[in-house]
Amino acid sequence: MSHIDADPNCIFCKIVEGKIPSKKLYEDDKVLAFHDINPWAPVHFLLIPKKHIGSMAHLSLDDASLMGHMMTLIPKLALEAGCEPYPQGGYRIVCNTGVQGGQEVHHLHIHVMGGPRPWLKG
Ligand code: AMP
Ligand code: ZN
Repeated sequence: MSHIDADPNCIFCKIVEGKIPSKKLYEDDKVLAFHDINPWAPVHFLLIPKKHIGSMAHLSLDDASLMGHMMTLIPKLALEAGCEPYPQGGYRIVCNTGVQGGQEVHHLHIHVMGGPRPWLKG
């Protein structure tokens, strides 16, 4: 099954399409959350839009409700994924953008990391 606005060379588009397996945490018609394959922290998942958006640098004002949806989902997903409650617990969100921003996969994704420290990175 293919989805609108997919980039055929994009690994996260392939995850959305089920062509590459992932450990899914949450899915609706607009977004997908799945565990990072190489976690830095006890909890580390990625939240992505289903449509291909290359990075934060590609956003337009038309994406405001999609990005608002993603940001406001994070508190619920983080707790469901095993992050401990604020303020003693919590989580870190990271959205690497561009090569100098440390972005390796060029499909917009928000990292959500949490759980007891120390972490491998971050
Ligand atoms: P970034 O450096 O922000 O582009 O991060 C890309 C992230 O995607 C890294 O943390 C990778 O471990 C993760 N990643 C790459 N391929 C997969 C995959 N097939 N399933 C889950 N996570 C992945
Ligand atoms: Zn993509």
